[in-house]
Amino acid sequence: KLHNQVQELKGNIRVFCRVRPLLPSEAEAAADDGSVAPAKIAFPDQDVDGKEITVQGPEQKSSLGTVTTATHPFAFDRVFGPAAQNADVFDEISQLVQSALDGYNVCIFCYGQTGSGKTHTMSAPADGMIPRAVAQIWQQAKGLEEKGWRYTMTGAFVEVYNESLNDLLGRAEDLDRKKLEIRHDAQRCKTSVPGATTVALDGPDAVHALLARAAKNRSVAATKANERSSRSHSVFMLSLQGANALTGERSEGVLNLVDLAGSERLAHSGATGDRLKETQNINRSLSCLGDVIAALGAASSSSSGAKKADGGAGGGHVPYRNSKLTYLLQYSLGGNSKTLMFVMVSPLLAHLGETLTSLKFATKVH
Ligand code: ADP
Ligand code: MG
Repeated sequence: KLHNQVQELKGNIRVFCRVRPLLPSEAEAAADDGSVAPAKIAFPDQDVDGKEITVQGPEQKSSLGTVTTATHPFAFDRVFGPAAQNADVFDEISQLVQSALDGYNVCIFCYGQTGSGKTHTMSAPADGMIPRAVAQIWQQAKGLEEKGWRYTMTGAFVEVYNESLNDLLGRAEDLDRKKLEIRHDAQRCKTSVPGATTVALDGPDAVHALLARAAKNRSVAATKANERSSRSHSVFMLSLQGANALTGERSEGVLNLVDLAGSERLAHSGATGDRLKETQNINRSLSCLGDVIAALGAASSSSSGAKKADGGAGGGHVPYRNSKLTYLLQYSLGGNSKTLMFVMVSPLLAHLGETLTSLKFATKVH
């Protein structure tokens, strides 16, 4: 391993929050006729490393006619207000991205309702986390060449939809036909997905072709089952293998960037057939992810932050097997790994209920 830093006492799970801005069309409607109203959310100044966000609950009228609103304060490791750009967000995660090069398994999740900004944060072609992370790692790997290091970097992009795993980089026709399997090598704490297409990331530009291919495959699938991307979890998996010709050292790290399915509570009533099954799968896999992260957090805070590379944590039971997503990410969540959860929220009053639900979920895993 390169320079294995001493891990922070708090354990390896952090939670960041991001509030997206009003979109131009929303701002227009808000100004014009008030048909779109922003929620009352207090967030940190863009230039301040704030950790708190306060949401004003809905107005409540008592029987005497007095109107009150409850105030809901939340604290996270970092809160980004609507003025923050993707570049500001990336500044705060670049250290974490770097640790994949140092031999850690890193997972970054975006959680939130549909329309809250998950895909913008993760995959915006110019400055999203995926292209920026690849560019940074590629540049840093180049810089380490003079010290004898040579890295190979490969990327895969898969999707968990209805508890089955699909290849987003394969042929569009195969998307729902060719299911991928997950293999675990318990001895080496390694996961592989044998049928997934892998792409050599042999320069900073290769990732753009990869993202375009994944987007195209998903849009083809969208005509069959609409809104596919908000109903599935997508996982970009970057594998890094390094060898040092001068010292004989080796390093192996993984960076997983996960754009989760929309967390909105979909009413069970009314939904039938495929839609009901989809809804149940999303609800179940998100709560399962919350359970796993909460179990890992509890284990690490009770073992003075030092985690064993046992793929679990301190002997406590971590329910990885309860969903495809946590099973896929098992060795990137426990053991020698670092996890960051982004909870994304919408600024709209119409979304207040979901905003509070999302912030409470994130507090639970924190
Ligand atoms: P999600 O993936 O959570 O469903 P999106 O990332 O697609 O949400 O965002 C919904 C809309 O809001 C998109 O049009 C997106 O471009 C825009 N958007 C999201 N976050 C931001 C942001 N921080 N700044 C500007 N526009 C944003
Ligand atoms: Mg999205």
